[in-house]
Amino acid sequence: MRLSRYFLPVLKENPSEAQIVSHRLMLRAGMIKQSSAGIYSWLPMGFKVLRKIENIVHEEQMRAGHIPMQMPTIQSADLWRESGRYDDYGEEMLRIKDRHDHDMLFTPTAEELITDIVRSHVKSYKDLPLTMYQIQWKFRDERRPRFGVMRGREFYMKDGYNFDLTKEDALHAYNRHLVSYLRTYERMGLQAIPMRADSGPIGGDDTHEFLVLAETGESEVFYDSTVTDLSFGDRDIDYDNVEQCAAIMEEFTTKYARTDETHDEALFNEVPEDRRKVARGIEVGQIFYFGTKYSDALGATVQGADGKNQALHMGSHGIGVSRLLGAIIEASHDDNGIIWPEGVTPFHCGIVNLKQGDEAADGACEDLYKQLTNAGLEPLYDDRNERAGGKFATMDLIGLPWRITVGPRGLKNGVVELTSRRTGESEELAPADAVAKVIAIYENHRVVGL
Ligand code: ATP
Ligand code: MG
Repeated sequence: MRLSRYFLPVLKENPSEAQIVSHRLMLRAGMIKQSSAGIYSWLPMGFKVLRKIENIVHEEQMRAGHIPMQMPTIQSADLWRESGRYDDYGEEMLRIKDRHDHDMLFTPTAEELITDIVRSHVKSYKDLPLTMYQIQWKFRDERRPRFGVMRGREFYMKDGYNFDLTKEDALHAYNRHLVSYLRTYERMGLQAIPMRADSGPIGGDDTHEFLVLAETGESEVFYDSTVTDLSFGDRDIDYDNVEQCAAIMEEFTTKYARTDETHDEALFNEVPEDRRKVARGIEVGQIFYFGTKYSDALGATVQGADGKNQALHMGSHGIGVSRLLGAIIEASHDDNGIIWPEGVTPFHCGIVNLKQGDEAADGACEDLYKQLTNAGLEPLYDDRNERAGGKFATMDLIGLPWRITVGPRGLKNGVVELTSRRTGESEELAPADAVAKVIAIYENHRVVGL
């Protein structure tokens, strides 16, 4: 993309309505625009990152054997009456009437609808196990929408649902989700710690939330500091391997790590004092096992091997796709702007032409642009007739992890400059070597973009 032709409405001033850094930077970098309280338009660069995050979630869900599908955003109230949640959900549910006076609602989550689909079509234990998921807009009429996309009213969420014959199988699904989520967040450059949590209106006993530590997080969290030493890394996972998934689950959930809802002071005090941490965190996902709660309510049964009908064991699993943009920025920025991790960056590399109109500089930039594009990467070429300082400030604000700077003086010596946004370190390289290095950096971060 050439910046002169892109739509990147960068703000020079700090917007007064933004209380936290991620909201401020998303507005300043021209990624979102509020349309009404807690409801946003996703401007091109914000949309691009949203898609990158979404694509990582898809890749990791499919890798775990989960099946993508899509359900409607507007649902009839009937199924929610059947489950009892039409009344229980309260004011967060946006209720709508259609022209025939039917009660409809904008989906805050989809346990009822998916259970209805499964009860209609899944009749035998032979059809199990089954996990389907969607990435779809949700609406919750939050009392205090705030912090930009962190607590929106309309937000984008991955919601998945597993259907199993036995509790044991459903617990494997739970563990499998935990493992796939760890991998998902790590690919986004995030450490998200699974913490024992409260199940809220979804119901059930077993649940973990995934929290990214950040001062601006809305949840208070209590943990043994050694949980932050755990890293998922480059493990070879067989998602059908019950023991392997259970072992990883145990590894990541045995140490004390809880949100305030489940915090237990006595247990916490068993952690050595110098390792006891109280901090704040951003919830970026949650997994649940709730047994037969919905299948009982909606009559979702299958015939077992013994010919008897039995209720399906279920769980549901959510990732806050749009909230993740805020969480990533909270975890990765400096005074000058965003620092995107390679896995989710909107463009892989910036190209800054220090002297637009100079024949050698223009030609070298065009070459770099072509070579990176041909290698399947997306560079953002700042080809505007602007001063170098302004170009650098824009690049720093929008946070591309790598920048190639091209100027007539360097070119005389046959070099361009490759700079890391994270460390600020630069090296002078021949243009072809700079291209090769950028390609190598992204070898392990290939996500289809938009
Ligand atoms: P919270 O406690 O923050 O209100 P929740 O526990 O009600 O969230 P879940 O039902 O677990 O939310 O939804 C799954 C994920 O969707 C959450 O982990 C979170 O990342 C995201 N999410 C929930 N509510 C919002 C919101 N209002 N805006 C943006 N993302 C949200
Ligand atoms: Mg939650």
